[in-house]
Amino acid sequence: MSHCGWNRRAWFCRQGARHNYLRARVKIHRWQRFKFTRLPLRLPTVKDEARGCCIVGGGPAGAMLALLLARRRVRVTLLEMHHDFDREFRGDTVHPSTLEILDQIGLAERVHELRNSKISGPTLQTTRGPFTPFDLRRLKTKYPYILMVHQKDLLALLTEEAKKYPYFQLLMGANVTDLIREDGAVRGVRYQTDDGVHELRALLTVGADGRFSRVRHLAGIDPVRTSPPMDVLWFRLPHLNEDIDAPGGAFGGFARGHIVGGFDRRDYWQAAFVIAKGSYPSLRAEGIEGLRRHIVQIEPRLAKHVESLADWQQVSLLSVESSCCLQWYLPGLLLIGDAAHAMSPVGGLGINYAIQDAVVAANLLTVPILDGYVTIDHLKAVQRKRQWPVRIIQALQTQLQKRVIATALRAEEQQGLSIPWFVRAFTRIPLLRDIPPRIMALGVVRVRVKN
Ligand SMILES: Cc1cc2nc3c(=O)[nH]c(=O)nc-3n(C[C@H](O)[C@H](O)[C@H](O)COP(=O)(O)OP(=O)(O)OC[C@H]3O[C@@H](n4cnc5c(N)ncnc54)[C@H](O)[C@@H]3O)c2cc1C
Repeated sequence: MSHCGWNRRAWFCRQGARHNYLRARVKIHRWQRFKFTRLPLRLPTVKDEARGCCIVGGGPAGAMLALLLARRRVRVTLLEMHHDFDREFRGDTVHPSTLEILDQIGLAERVHELRNSKISGPTLQTTRGPFTPFDLRRLKTKYPYILMVHQKDLLALLTEEAKKYPYFQLLMGANVTDLIREDGAVRGVRYQTDDGVHELRALLTVGADGRFSRVRHLAGIDPVRTSPPMDVLWFRLPHLNEDIDAPGGAFGGFARGHIVGGFDRRDYWQAAFVIAKGSYPSLRAEGIEGLRRHIVQIEPRLAKHVESLADWQQVSLLSVESSCCLQWYLPGLLLIGDAAHAMSPVGGLGINYAIQDAVVAANLLTVPILDGYVTIDHLKAVQRKRQWPVRIIQALQTQLQKRVIATALRAEEQQGLSIPWFVRAFTRIPLLRDIPPRIMALGVVRVRVKN
C-alpha cells in the first residue's frame, strides 16, 4: 500500500517538475521574442558612472566574484541585505577545489588560520561494523581534505581582502528591491537601506542572492525544480570524554526511516538528522524528546550527547531544494551560485559550486567589463562553461537521493545500514575507488583563476 502511495507521489513529483520546466521555457521564450530580437549583440554604450559591475548578495559566490573583479581593477559594488555575515549552519564545507582556488589568489594560508577542522572521510555504522566509503587523503592535491570553516569567517576574509582594492565597495544592509532597465537591458538595481531607497547603475548586474533569489524573480526567470526526498535538521552536540570515534572527522548511520550524521567541528559536533520531506511537523509534534529518541535509536553512542538538546530553537531546518535555471542571463544581467542552481546538500557542494561559478564569471567577463561592453555571448559563455558540471553533479545527487537516501527514509523496520557486497568490492579497487571522491572534492572539471 505504502509502495503504491510512493509511486503515485513520485508520478506527481515528475509531473510537477515537467510542468515547471515547460513554464520556465515558455517564459524565457516570451522574453527572447519581445526583448532579444530588438537588441543589438553589443549592448548600448553606457555613461561613465554606470561602468563596472554590481553584485547582489554577499554569499560565497558574490564575495568571491567581487574580490576577483576588484583584483583586476574592475569597479565593483557588492550589496548584502543583512548587516553582518553571521548565520548559523550555512555551507561550511570548503572542498579541495576551493582550497586550490584560494591558494591561487594567495589566501590558502589565511583560510587555514581561521578556526577550522578537517574531514577526510566519513565512518558509517553498518550492520557489519564501521565502513569508510572513501578517503580523501588518497587524492593527488595539496589539500586532501574538506576544511570546515564557518561561512561567516570565510566571507569576512574574502571581503576584507577585497577592501584592499580601491575599486571595491561593500554595502551592508542594502536590500535590492528592483532592477533598473533601460533600452531592453538591465542597467543596475534599486535598493533599500535604513535611510531610504537608492539607485546603483552598472554595466553588468550579477544576481548572487541565493536560492530564493529576488533578482531572478524580478528578471522573470523560473528555475526548474526537482524534488529531493528529504529535509535536514542541523544542530550542535557537545564533545564528551566518551566520544564517538570518527577517525576521518565525520560519522553517519541510519535506521527506522531516519539518517543521522555529524562533522567534527573541534569544539562540538555539527550534527544532521535527515527526515522525509515534509515530515518535520509530525516530528515536532513528538516533542524534542522524540528527536532525541530517534537519534539514539540510530546511534546509541550519542545517548549522553543528545541530553544537551532541550529546545527546538537549537535546531535549524534546511528545506532541501535542488533546481537549475534554463537560462542564467538576460542582457546586462547574470545569475550565479544558488540563484542559478540550488544544489542538494548531498556531498556539501553548494558553496564550492558557487565559488567555481564566480571564478569562471571573473575569467570570462573581466575584459569585457573593462572594455565597457558585455554582450549576450559573453554571458552565454559563462552559463555554457558552468552548466554541464552542475547538471552532472545534480544528476549524481539525484541518483544517490533516489537509490540510497529515499530507500533509507522509507525503511520502517530496518535496523541499521547494510552495504551491498558490490559497493564494498568497489571501494577496494584502487583505480576505481577514488573516482567518486575525486569528482566530489575537485569538481567535474578543475576551475582555475586566470590572471
Ligand atoms: C542550513 C543550510 C546548510 C547548508 N549546508 C551546506 C554545507 O554543509 N555545504 C555546502 O556546500 N552547502 C551548504 N548549504 C548551501 C550553501 O550555503 C549554498 O549553496 C551557498 O552558500 C551558495 O552560495 P551563494 O553565494 O550562491 O548564495 P548564498 O550563500 O545563499 O548567499 C546569498 C546572499 O544574498 C543575500 N541576499 C538575498 N537577497 C538579497 C537582496 N534582495 N539584496 C541583497 N542581498 C540579498 C543573502 O543575505 C545572502 O547573504 C547549506 C545551506 C543551508 C541553508
